[in-house]
Amino acid sequence: MSQEYDLVILGGGTGGYVAAIRASQLGLKTAIVEKGKLGGTCLHKGCIPSKALLRSAEVFATAKHSEDFGVITSVVSLDFGKVQERKNKIIDQLHKGVQHLMKQGKIDVYEGLGRILGPSIFSPMPGTISVEMNNGQENEMLIPKNVIVATGSRPRTLPGLEIDGDYVMSSDEALQLEALPSSIIIVGGGVIGIEWASMLSDFGVEVTVIEYADRIIPTEDKEISKEMQRLMKKKGIKLVTGAKVLAETLVRDNGVAISAEVKGGVKEYKADKLLVSVGRQANTEGIGLENTEIQVEKGFIATNEFFQTKESHIYAIGDVIGGLQLAHVASHEGIVAVQHIAGKDPSPFDYNLVSRCIYSNPEVSSVGITEDQAKEKGHKVKVGKFSFRAIGKALVFGESDGFVKIVADEETNDILGVHMIGPHVTDMITEAGLAMVLDATPWEMAHTIHPHPTLSEAIGEAALAVDGKAIHS
Ligand SMILES: Cc1cc2nc3c(=O)[nH]c(=O)nc-3n(C[C@H](O)[C@H](O)[C@H](O)COP(=O)(O)OP(=O)(O)OC[C@H]3O[C@@H](n4cnc5c(N)ncnc54)[C@H](O)[C@@H]3O)c2cc1C
Repeated sequence: MSQEYDLVILGGGTGGYVAAIRASQLGLKTAIVEKGKLGGTCLHKGCIPSKALLRSAEVFATAKHSEDFGVITSVVSLDFGKVQERKNKIIDQLHKGVQHLMKQGKIDVYEGLGRILGPSIFSPMPGTISVEMNNGQENEMLIPKNVIVATGSRPRTLPGLEIDGDYVMSSDEALQLEALPSSIIIVGGGVIGIEWASMLSDFGVEVTVIEYADRIIPTEDKEISKEMQRLMKKKGIKLVTGAKVLAETLVRDNGVAISAEVKGGVKEYKADKLLVSVGRQANTEGIGLENTEIQVEKGFIATNEFFQTKESHIYAIGDVIGGLQLAHVASHEGIVAVQHIAGKDPSPFDYNLVSRCIYSNPEVSSVGITEDQAKEKGHKVKVGKFSFRAIGKALVFGESDGFVKIVADEETNDILGVHMIGPHVTDMITEAGLAMVLDATPWEMAHTIHPHPTLSEAIGEAALAVDGKAIHS
C-alpha cells in the first residue's frame, strides 16, 4: 500500500509528536512512524518516569524528617512496588493523552520501523518511507513531500562497561528496577547522574558518583556546582571527581568492583550495582541515511538553522541532531521545522534562551551563560546573588539551602545568565527566560513585584543585588 502526505515524521517522541500537531494545525496532511510508543524517551524512559521516582524519593526523605515540622509519624517505610506502580500510572495517562492528540489532529500513526528510501518509482528524490509494520502486516510505503527525522537517542556506554541489565545498567534499566540495591556506583556526574544520585540517596541507597571532570554538573556555573557538591555530600553521597574509570578492571560477581585513577593513584570502589550515565548516542543507524546526501557529523545529523539536512526537503530535529538534548528543545525545533516547511518564515532558534533544569533535591536551573563564559567572551560582569536562607517561604518549606545568581554586563546592563540552586527553582527559571527574551535589565526584573511570601522573592533580591541594593542581605 502507498499513501501520499505533505509531511511524514520518523519518530513519535517529544520532538516528533509536537511537530505533527503543529503541522496538522497548519493544514498539512501528516503521518508519524513510531516503532515503539508515542511519547518516546521523555515519556517512557526519561523526563516523566525519572521525575515520578524523584518525587517519591523526596516524599520519603521528607517523611523521615517529618518531626522537624511537628508531625510525628510511626515507622516510615518504602513500598518500592507501589512507587513503580505510581510512575507507570502517570506514564499510561500521559501516553493516552498523546494518542488522543494524534486522533484529534487527524494525524495518521504507523506503528513500525521506518526507513528512508532513495529515489524510487514513487519519487525522484530520496524521502519515500517504507514502514516495516510491528503487527507483521505488509510493509507500508509513504510518499511525503517533506520528512522530519526525529529518531532520538539511546544511552551511551564505555567499552568494558557493557550494559547487562543486572549488575551494569543504563537509565533505561534503572527505571525498571523491581527492588532498590543497597549500594550503587554511578559513572558520570552530569545531569542524569546527579538526578539518580539524589533520588537513590533519598531512597536510602548508599551512592558513589565517579566523575571525570574536576566537578559534578560541569556545564553549570562553577558556584552552582560547588553548592551542589556541598549539598550532595551533606546527603551522604560520596563524590569522586577528576577520576578516570578503568573500565577493564570491572568485576561483575555478586555485586560490582571497579577501579578509577584518582589524583595519580588508583582506588577501587565496590557496590551492588553500577549505573552508567555518560551521555546519549543519536539513533542514526538503520533509518536509510545512506540512501540520501544527509551528513552525519560527530555522530549527529547535521542541519542548518531551520533544521534542513543536505536534502532540503528532509529535516532533522531533537536528540538525533545533538546540542542540548532536552525535550523542550526537541519540540521547539520541531515547531520551527514545520513552520519552515509551511512557508511561515520562522525565526531561527536561539539556544542561549533555553532554560536547563536538574530535578535533583535540591533542584538546579539556569538560562544564558555562566560567569566564567561571560568573562571569556570579554564581558565586564557584575553579579547579584541572593541566598534562600533569607527567604521566608524557603524557611516555611524547610528547604533554605541554595541561592539565585544573576550575571549581567556592567556596561550594557544586559542579563547574560541566571543560575539557581534550591527549592523548586525549576519552576522559577521561566521568569528569567522571559526577562532575557524581552531584553530586560536586572532593574526591570527587580521592579517586577515578587509577591510575599514566595520563593521568587530570591530572584527580585538577586536582581537588586546586581547593583548592591538587595533589601534583606
Ligand atoms: C533518564 C532521562 C531523564 C531525562 N529527563 C529530562 C528532563 O527532565 N527534561 C528534559 O527536557 N529532557 C530530559 N531528558 C531528555 C529527553 O528525554 C530527550 O531530550 C527527548 O526525549 C528527545 O526527544 P526526541 O523526540 O528527539 O527523541 P525521543 O524522545 O528519543 O524519540 C524518538 C522516537 O523515535 C522512535 N524511533 C527511532 N527510530 C525509529 C525508526 N527507524 N522508525 C520509527 N520510529 C523510530 C523511538 O522509538 C522514539 O520513540 C531525559 C532523558 C533521560 C534518558
